[in-house]
Amino acid sequence: MEYKKKEDFCIKGVGGSPGIVIGKAQPIDRGKADMFFTYRLIDEVEVSLEEERFKSAVKESKDQCLSVKKNIIRQNAKDVVYIIDAHLMILDDKMLIEETLNKIKEEKINAEWALEITLQKLRSVFKEIDDEYLSERRSDIDYVAKRILRNLVGKRHDSISGLKEKVIVVAHDLSPGDTAQMSKETIIGFVTDIGGKTSHTAIMARALEIPAVVGSERITQEVNIGDQLIVDGTTGIVIINPSKAILNEYLEKKRIYESLEKELFKYRDLPAQTIDGYRIKVVANIELVEEIPSVLEHGAEGIGLYRTEFLYLNRKELPSEEEHFKTYKRVIEQLHPCSTTIRTLDIGGDKFSSNLQLAKEMNPALGLRAIRFCLKEVDIFKTQLKAILRASSFGKVKVMFPMISGVSEILQTKEILEEVKFELKAKGIPFDPDIEIGIMIEIPSAVTMADILAKEVDFFSIGTNDLIQYSLAIDRVNEHVGYLYEPLHPAVLRVIKHVVECGHNEGIRVGMCGEMAGEPIYIPILLGLHLDELSMNALSVLGVKEIVCAVTLKESKELLDNIMEFTTASEIRSFVKNEMIKRFPILFAGLKEIE
Ligand code: PEP
Ligand code: MG
Repeated sequence: MEYKKKEDFCIKGVGGSPGIVIGKAQPIDRGKADMFFTYRLIDEVEVSLEEERFKSAVKESKDQCLSVKKNIIRQNAKDVVYIIDAHLMILDDKMLIEETLNKIKEEKINAEWALEITLQKLRSVFKEIDDEYLSERRSDIDYVAKRILRNLVGKRHDSISGLKEKVIVVAHDLSPGDTAQMSKETIIGFVTDIGGKTSHTAIMARALEIPAVVGSERITQEVNIGDQLIVDGTTGIVIINPSKAILNEYLEKKRIYESLEKELFKYRDLPAQTIDGYRIKVVANIELVEEIPSVLEHGAEGIGLYRTEFLYLNRKELPSEEEHFKTYKRVIEQLHPCSTTIRTLDIGGDKFSSNLQLAKEMNPALGLRAIRFCLKEVDIFKTQLKAILRASSFGKVKVMFPMISGVSEILQTKEILEEVKFELKAKGIPFDPDIEIGIMIEIPSAVTMADILAKEVDFFSIGTNDLIQYSLAIDRVNEHVGYLYEPLHPAVLRVIKHVVECGHNEGIRVGMCGEMAGEPIYIPILLGLHLDELSMNALSVLGVKEIVCAVTLKESKELLDNIMEFTTASEIRSFVKNEMIKRFPILFAGLKEIE
């Protein structure tokens, strides 16, 4: 394959997960029909098998077209038969079929990728044709190719977990389910076209400690197989085919980043306490049990958000009560004596599950997700609640409900919880009868009702990822509006202040578990707001502790008072930035360069 290699070609996306990696690009094509395949080199002996696989997928495609044709004729819709005839002709086309077979043989690559290369060539030929009718035939070719691919992929499923070499994955998008299958051993980093800092793909990357850039908009158009990439997951910069000078510069940056990371470990066993004695609890967010060693290693004081939806991903059947129970017990026992806050299923939005057959919705973020889904599918909900309660007799557990929008939802939820407790009690199964219950505050109506909601629960946890999305009407996964996603928007700060006050007026603890809680630059503001707990990805814990231990509550309150006077997010951001650079010149030196 000949490709134009561009030296030092730079793309700016969103820093999805910190760290610098340098390695070979592995583009992954998911296709529009959710087909998933990768570039794969094959051995000499595999060539004939791969050719046969391709031929049989073409034959299967022909059979399918013939059966569609028969159906059309039976339904007397003969005037559209010509479309199927055109597709059958394409399936016999030398340019498509023989070229693909040649590619398999000559380049020793898998059939899917060989077909993709042939298609790219055909598409560019058609693009040049100045004839509307002929140019339209391009979509017929795409249609037929999709059919062949579907038949091919149906027979052999290249999965992200099957990659053998260390690579940097490049994809248009990756679902949280894809990311959950990633192993740091082979996937050293990834870059996607779409997504934002708080999309679940980015959250998973941080959880797995895989440096990543998301929302680059066009990485898949610019990168070819085997290109060398530098991925800076902290700044969101990707450099394609770096020159020697740039490569050396980044090797040095990587070395400095890694040594600063090591330095931070001195905060591991220190409490997060300001110089003047204000103690805030710093805990971790997890998605998978496998993250617990990293949580403990980074000195988190417990788990403030265990996102349980990952138990439901990448599988055909729903998890049983026993499976839930065993998983929670493992988490709780490893965390002992610290507490674990288990959040009930928050499926929907940008987290989906194949087994739960969710309907396609126009606005998934506003659809049947989280507690709404659980209150509709009560059996699924009860299975999870039973397991959480059973696990609560093995350590300190709290249960938290996502996306509560008002009082009736929490009342209904508590009623179901009471029913489950009653059932367990009747069977003599032990559980913590006083298990603390909390809700996530992430919907504007819950903010408005926070004074009343505070009377119903033991704690609040502010989910800024969704709260900002809904308060500012910005899709958290849409890279085109990412620039509007602003935790320092005066409206967001006022909302947080109100929620903390409502909670404290009722004597309950108020924490924060959205990504905002793990950003060092926001920490003095969050201290000034008097939050009781900050929950974040394990990688952020030490950096957050460092700031908490270096400031006073008094100066944090003064900073907050100052910024509450401003009316625009940009004034607040530049004020905060300058203050933090003044206060921590080395730590925030990088901010000077980013405007
Ligand atoms: C949030 O919305 O801030 C949150 C922590 O929950 P999730 O990111 O899982 O929606
Ligand atoms: Mg949320």
